[in-house]
Amino acid sequence: MRDPVLEGGCFCGLVRYRVSAEPTCETNCHCSICRRTTGAPFVAWFTAPRSAFAFVAGSPFDFQSSEHGTRSFCPRCGTQLTFASSHAPGEIDVTTCSLDDPERVPPRDHTRTSARLSWIALGDGLPEYREARDR
Ligand SMILES: [Zn+2]
Ligand SMILES: [Zn+2]
Repeated sequence: MRDPVLEGGCFCGLVRYRVSAEPTCETNCHCSICRRTTGAPFVAWFTAPRSAFAFVAGSPFDFQSSEHGTRSFCPRCGTQLTFASSHAPGEIDVTTCSLDDPERVPPRDHTRTSARLSWIALGDGLPEYREARDR
């Protein structure tokens, strides 16, 4: 079993968080909102119980990115850290690559691939879902 405590934060170090639970729903999301709010072609995420997630340094800026979704960012360097949905109030999604060690939480699939960019060629053999989770 993996050590259930995961730590991470933004690029500049102002905002830090801790996750005290096994990650679930590890995925690469190809939706246009993930893409446009990061400037990256897709974004790796994992899910944790909201009760197991805490910011331990700094205060992120919350941005409502859709009717049900709120994303948090470092107010200084802009790293996107979390996604929370009013559809799943007990959960929080965390950007895998804001972890200190993203190798510990590899993605298990690709979601929202109906929005995948034509110049992204996936060759990792992971399952692809055209829609799936709201994020
Ligand atoms: Zn920062
Ligand atoms: Zn997305």
